Amino acid sequence: MSLLVVGSVALDDVRTPFGERKDVLGGAAVYFGLAASYFTDVRLVGVVGRDFPDRHRVLLESRGIDLAGLETVEGETFRWGGEYGYDLNARKTMFTDLNVFADFRPRIPEAFRDSEHVFLANIEPGLQLGVLDQVEAPETVSLDTMNYWIEQTPADLKEVIGRVDLVLINDSETRELAREPNLRKAAATILEWGPRLIVVKKGEHGAVAFSGDWIFAVPGIPLETIVDPTGAGDAFAGGFLGYVAATGDTSPEGFRRATIYGSAMGSFCCEDFSVDRLTNLDAEAIEERFEEFGRLTRFDRRPVAGNA
Ligand code: AMP
Repeated sequence: MSLLVVGSVALDDVRTPFGERKDVLGGAAVYFGLAASYFTDVRLVGVVGRDFPDRHRVLLESRGIDLAGLETVEGETFRWGGEYGYDLNARKTMFTDLNVFADFRPRIPEAFRDSEHVFLANIEPGLQLGVLDQVEAPETVSLDTMNYWIEQTPADLKEVIGRVDLVLINDSETRELAREPNLRKAAATILEWGPRLIVVKKGEHGAVAFSGDWIFAVPGIPLETIVDPTGAGDAFAGGFLGYVAATGDTSPEGFRRATIYGSAMGSFCCEDFSVDRLTNLDAEAIEERFEEFGRLTRFDRRPVAGNA
């Protein structure tokens, strides 16, 4: 099964209380693609400038990611800088230099148009719609977005949400998008626009998946090592959709398992800077992390409420 991702490929500067990195590989499509690559074949569509180092291309290809849709154009690669304090859920964006990303018009290569699963990472909703017009008949289409598009292009965003199956966004975006502080009501509002499932990412506090009929919640795993949470949301989406693409399972049970694999990949992402942890995993580590989520939430029912 093939999984297509369209989104940013970046060079990031990141500072956390545990250190600092400059010019490291980043971008939503990169984090997504690397996480998904442990489950299925990934096809990537994005744009970089002539300054994009070959070693990053080699790294992505070494994980089997097909870069036929990664355009290289005159100019500089998209650059983003972020800084975190001890509350790693709160991030300050230091700069966003769109560079070649400003003129990004995704062109899906002929060979990618039959992709069975499509992930529209955080880009302008109008461009996300343009991608949907270039793919043939995907089994699932999913999207991510950000506050900027919720505020700047709400009509386009609502239109594209009406055409996707899954929405994977964070909790503050969910509330802002639906204009509703109660997360459950906010998810219900967004589901009315068309998608089958909303997966709300809550950073270190886990994730909640809402369908029209059921809700599934996963806690955040209390990690021993947290170094850099950049890209965790995209890695979550990569694990989630990588699992869906690998199994073709879109049953409620399948989506529940996908939520755990997403949580596992998001948690690994935080354990080192940039994509470092996402490039040295193996199946055993991923399955062990999956089991850890089970151990973390398993408990027996022993009724004692005799006075009720
Ligand atoms: P996340 O931590 O999941 O929000 O993703 C962080 C990644 O998103 C970084 O590697 C950035 O390069 C990338 N990024 C930051 N701002 C944008 C933007 N406006 N559009 C697309 N990608 C972005």
